[in-house]
Amino acid sequence: MFRGVAARALHLSRGVEKPSGRVTYIVVLEGLCRFSVQELSTRGSYHVARVSRLDMTKTELEQAEQDPDLIALSRQFKATAMELISVLEQKQKTVSRTKVLLDTVPVYRLADIFVASFEISFEEQLSMLDSVDLKVRLSKATELVDRHLQSILVAEKITQKVEGQLSKSQKEFLLRQQMRAIKEELGDNDDDEDDVVALERKMQNAGMPANIWKHAQRELRRLRKMQPQQPGYSSSRAYLELLADLPWQKVSEERELDLRAAKESLDWDHYGLTKVKQRIIEYLAVRKLKPDARGPVLCFVGPPGVGKTSLASSIAKALNRKFIRISLGGVKDEADIRGHRRTYIGSMPGRLIDGLKRVSVSNPVMLLDEIDKTGSDVRGDPASALLEVLDPEQNKTFNDHYLNVPFDLSKVIFVATANRMQPIPPPLLDRMEVIELPGYTPEEKLKIAMKHLIPRVLEQHGLSSAYLQIPEAMVKLIIERYTREAGVRNLERNLAALARAAAVKVAEQANTLRLGKEIQPITTTLLDSRLADGGEVEMEVIPMGHDISNTYENPSPMIVDEAMLEKVLGPPRFDDREAADRVASPGVSVGLVWTSFGGEVQFVEATAMVGKGDLHLTGQLGDVIKESAQLALTWVRARAADLNLSPTSDINLLESRDIHIHFPAGAVPKDGPSAGVTLVTSLVSLFSNRKVRADTAMTGEMTLRGLVLPVGGVKDKVLAAHRYGIKRVILPERNLKDLTEVPSPILSGMEILLVKRIEEVLDHAFEDGCPLRLRSKL
Ligand code: ADP
Repeated sequence: MFRGVAARALHLSRGVEKPSGRVTYIVVLEGLCRFSVQELSTRGSYHVARVSRLDMTKTELEQAEQDPDLIALSRQFKATAMELISVLEQKQKTVSRTKVLLDTVPVYRLADIFVASFEISFEEQLSMLDSVDLKVRLSKATELVDRHLQSILVAEKITQKVEGQLSKSQKEFLLRQQMRAIKEELGDNDDDEDDVVALERKMQNAGMPANIWKHAQRELRRLRKMQPQQPGYSSSRAYLELLADLPWQKVSEERELDLRAAKESLDWDHYGLTKVKQRIIEYLAVRKLKPDARGPVLCFVGPPGVGKTSLASSIAKALNRKFIRISLGGVKDEADIRGHRRTYIGSMPGRLIDGLKRVSVSNPVMLLDEIDKTGSDVRGDPASALLEVLDPEQNKTFNDHYLNVPFDLSKVIFVATANRMQPIPPPLLDRMEVIELPGYTPEEKLKIAMKHLIPRVLEQHGLSSAYLQIPEAMVKLIIERYTREAGVRNLERNLAALARAAAVKVAEQANTLRLGKEIQPITTTLLDSRLADGGEVEMEVIPMGHDISNTYENPSPMIVDEAMLEKVLGPPRFDDREAADRVASPGVSVGLVWTSFGGEVQFVEATAMVGKGDLHLTGQLGDVIKESAQLALTWVRARAADLNLSPTSDINLLESRDIHIHFPAGAVPKDGPSAGVTLVTSLVSLFSNRKVRADTAMTGEMTLRGLVLPVGGVKDKVLAAHRYGIKRVILPERNLKDLTEVPSPILSGMEILLVKRIEEVLDHAFEDGCPLRLRSKL
C-alpha cells in the first residue's frame, strides 16, 4: 500500500541555469495531511489516485488525547522541546516565537514542525512522515529533538573548553585586532603600526652604514612581529629609536677657521691665562693646516672654577662645532662608558653614545669632565674603556655593548679636564697633553670679577650697571672674607647673590612706585624678611627671563657697600686670624698641601698621652702620608736628646707615651709626601712644649736622614698661604725654580724661606730658632 502526504504548492521559482543547460526549479510546499492510496490510475501523462485520509480527525484526536500513554509521551516531548528552546534562547533571542508555539499548537503538529526545523537525514524525514500512529510519531520526534539537544550541548562544551585554553595574550590579540578594525572604521590612524612606519622612515634617514642598516632592519622585522604588550617590545623599540637618533653621518659644518677671531673670542671670554690660550691657538692652528690631524687630546688640569669647562667650550665655538660635556666624576663601572648588554633589564647605552645622541652630530667637541675621578673596581675598569675612546686607531670602531654595532668616534674632538694629574692612570695620561691651570691670585680674581663675572651676572639677572654697582673695594672684600678658593666659582655665586638681592629691591621699588603716594609703601621688604631667616644665601644663578631694566624705571643705581655685603652674604666667613688661633698651643703646625681644590693650608695637630709608644693617626689619611708620619716620629725619637726633648739620652720619655696625630678636616681624604716637614715640626713643638709661629707655613718631603726633598704644586700652595694671610713660607731649596710661576705682587709681600735640611725648617718655624741649634750653641 502506498502512502503519501498531500500538499499545497505555495511558491514556484526558477533556479539558476547550470552550465549543462539544465534548469532547476524550487517549489515550496505546505503539507496538508497524510494519506493512503486506495486506487491508482493513469490519466494522460500523470497519475490519478483515490486516497483516504490517514491523519486523525478532530474528534478522533480529542479522544486519543485521553489516552494516558499519549499524555505521557506528549509531556515528555514537550519537556525535551522546552529544554532545547531554553538552550537555544541563550544563544539567540529569536526563539521566543517558538516558545509561544509550544503553548498554542497541538502536540501532534508540534512534532512535525520541530523535526522539520533542524537538519536530519532524508530517511529520518521520510520515516517521520510515514509515522501515522501518533504515539510512534511522538516518540520518534522526542528522540530526534533530544539528539539535537545533546549535539548542541556537546558542541557548547567543546567551545568552552577551547576558549579556556586560549591564553591571555591570544585573547588580547583578538581584542586588539578588533580594536584595530574599529579604529580603521573610525578613520583613526595613529596606532602602533603607523608608529613603526614612522620609526622605519626615521631609520632610513639616519644614514646608517649598509651593514648596520641590515642589522637594524632585522631588528625592525622582529619588532613588527611583536605585540606592544609583549615583554621585549619596548626595549627593542628603544634600541631602534637609538639607532635612528644617532648621528651616523650628520656633522656640523666646520667653517674656515679664523685664528684671529678665535684668539679674540678666547680673550673676550677669559682674563689672563696667556700661556693656556696660546697653547689652544697652536692647537687650532694645527687643525687648520691639517684638519684630519690626530693631535693629542688636550687635558686641562686645575682646581674647580678656574675656567677649564669654559675654555673647552670656547674651542668648540672657535671651530663652530657643537659642545657636549660628559661627566665622568664617580664613574666606577665600565658599563657607564661602554653601556650594558641588551640582555640586562633596564640596559642603557654608555655615556658617550648617549651624549652623541643628545648633540645629534658626529663631530662635536666632547668634554670628558673630571677624568681623574674615574676609578676601577669589580665592575670593570672605565679607564681602559676610555683608552679605547681616545685612541685614534681604535675609536673608529668604538663598540658600545648596548649598541652592539661599531660607531665611528674619530670625528669627535675630545678635550678632558681633571682636578689632579696624579690619579689619572699613566696609559691614559700618555694619550693626553696636559695643560695646567693653577689657581688665580686675588688680583687676578678681582680683574676676572670686574671684567667678566659682574657683567655676566648682571645680565643673567636682568640688571645693568644703572641698577647695581659693585665697587672694586667690595669685590676685594668678597674675595678676602667670603671665599677661600683657587678658582672663581664661589666668587661668582656670591656676586649672583648680590644681584638677586638687588633684583628683589628693584622690583619692589617699582611696585611701590606704581602703588602711588597715597598708599602705604611695603614696610618689610622681601629682602629683609629673607635675610631675617638667617639661612645660608642661596648660590645658584637663576636667569630672570626678562630684563628688569626695561620694565622698571630706577631713580639711582644701588651701590653695594659693606653693610649690604653683611646683609646679603652674612658675616664674613674667613679672616686672617685663623692661623693664629689654631696654633695657640704647642703641637700644632701649619702645612701647605695640594688637593683637588688647589692649594690648601693644612694644620697638623699632635698630642701625647700615657701609653706604650704607639702612633695613632686620624683624618682620612692615605698610605704615603701614614709612612711620612712614621718617618717623622722615628726622626724625632732618634734626635730626642739632641733636640733637648728628653732630659737624658738613656731615659727616653717618648717610650712610655702614645702619640696621636690628627689632620683636621677629617672628612677630606689626604695623601702625599709633602707633609713630612710639617709632621716633624708638630712633634718637636709638642715635645719641647713650644708654640710654632702662626705666620709661617711649610711644605716638603723628608728623608730619614733629615734632607728636605722638593714637592709639587708650589704655585698653588703659595697662593693658598697668601689667601690665609700667611707671611712666611718654608719651601725645599730645589723648588726655587717653581717660584717664577708665582705672580710677583704675591711674592713681594711674602718671605720665602728655602731649606735643605729639616733642622733649618725647625729653625724658621720657631720664634727662637731650632732647639737643636739652641743646644749646640750652649
Ligand atoms: P672649571 O671647569 O675649571 O671648574 P668653569 O669653566 O666652570 O670652571 O668656570 C667657572 C666660572 O668662572 C665660569 O663662569 C667661567 O666663565 C669663569 N671663569 C673662570 N676663569 C675665568 C677667566 N680667566 N676669565 C673669565 N672668566 C673665568
